[in-house]
Amino acid sequence: MKQQHGSKPQSIHIIHQDHAATISTPKRQHLGKLLAAVAICISGAAFGQVARVNPWAPSNANTPITAASIINGVWLKGDLHVHSRHSKESSNNPVAKIVAFSKSVGMDYLCITDHDNHVDGDVAHNTWADPDFKSESVLLLYGAEWTTTRGHGNVFSAKPYDHQQLYDVRDQRDTLIGRVKNKLGIHLSANHPSGKDHFGYSYDIIQSLEVWNSVLWSKNAEAIMIWDDMLSSGRKLTGRGGSDAHHGVPETPEQATPNSKQAQANYVGTPTTWVFASARTSQAVINALTNGRVSISSNPYAPRVEFYADLNQDNKMDMMMGDNVKSTGKPVKFRVQLTGNIADTAAYTIKVIKNGGTFGTFQATAGKTPYYEFTDTPATTGRTYYRVVVEGPPTAYPQVPQAATLNGNMVGLSNPIYFNFDPKF
Ligand SMILES: [Zn+2]
Ligand SMILES: [Zn+2]
Repeated sequence: MKQQHGSKPQSIHIIHQDHAATISTPKRQHLGKLLAAVAICISGAAFGQVARVNPWAPSNANTPITAASIINGVWLKGDLHVHSRHSKESSNNPVAKIVAFSKSVGMDYLCITDHDNHVDGDVAHNTWADPDFKSESVLLLYGAEWTTTRGHGNVFSAKPYDHQQLYDVRDQRDTLIGRVKNKLGIHLSANHPSGKDHFGYSYDIIQSLEVWNSVLWSKNAEAIMIWDDMLSSGRKLTGRGGSDAHHGVPETPEQATPNSKQAQANYVGTPTTWVFASARTSQAVINALTNGRVSISSNPYAPRVEFYADLNQDNKMDMMMGDNVKSTGKPVKFRVQLTGNIADTAAYTIKVIKNGGTFGTFQATAGKTPYYEFTDTPATTGRTYYRVVVEGPPTAYPQVPQAATLNGNMVGLSNPIYFNFDPKF
């Protein structure tokens, strides 16, 4: 490369001389200066004297970033993508049935996300106005599946909002949609980002994406690839799950439809999204979702993946998934921990992803609380992220008996721990 660059200034100089005779004096002087400047630039680059600086390149963030408390909070589990009878292609799935089922499997929160196009955007007078849209134990988020020609996204909100406004702008430019979304104060999330009805809007108008849609984990490989690409580009986007269940178990044989068998394999909780919320409120669930304090498990009974980092090697964890700090250049100790139903003999494999590539694949310790610790030093300049994928024996989900078979060995997925991501991006 150096040799090529080195020859260029000379050939430019020759061209300059050849053309000089036919050009008027003032023009010639101007052109001469211009070409001389070009020649200096090129020869400078050849010897590394002029370093081009991309003003948008990730910098060593000047703002100190600190992580929120990793102690004061509560783990809450739920499903963020479920269809009720208010979606036209749903069967045997009234709101009351979904809420009762969610309660019976210990869900803390739930978002019923019916297709908004089936009710012309009027979710407020359909799903939310359903007399059964209430629960004393399960936090019911307000939301809908934004169902457009350019794909699907889910809205999550702690309180009712004017969904009609989002429905009305679905074919407008993304800049306008982003403004409407911000005005409504809602969390927007890309659904099933690869394949049919993939989210065809800018990822700059969303806070999260569905990296694990339905019990069929193996179908999510491209969604994961998109997530890693977005993370690598500096977008701090939360990965979340969603069963996208449409069909309930019929009460009687006459109510069965060709889709009824789906409820035996894919229903509320396949997968389950865990959030570390500051309180047991709908708003805290959404805040945790936005902040990325989230992990996904194959079902409500499967172990929960927790991912922490100790920044100063005092064996006290200082940050968890979703948190973003400035790298000090010192080694950081990471801890992956599994909590919940663990069989004594179970062996779990932990795959650590660093900046989109595999950092390593490790075996967790055996016992009731399997964990794995590793140390790495995130670079002081540029961004770094780490996330983990856990595989192991499937956990039975008796209410959805075929789920464990379809899900295979996939146990759970963490969100990333971030270093040097621009908090103002
Ligand atoms: Zn969809
Ligand atoms: Zn859906």
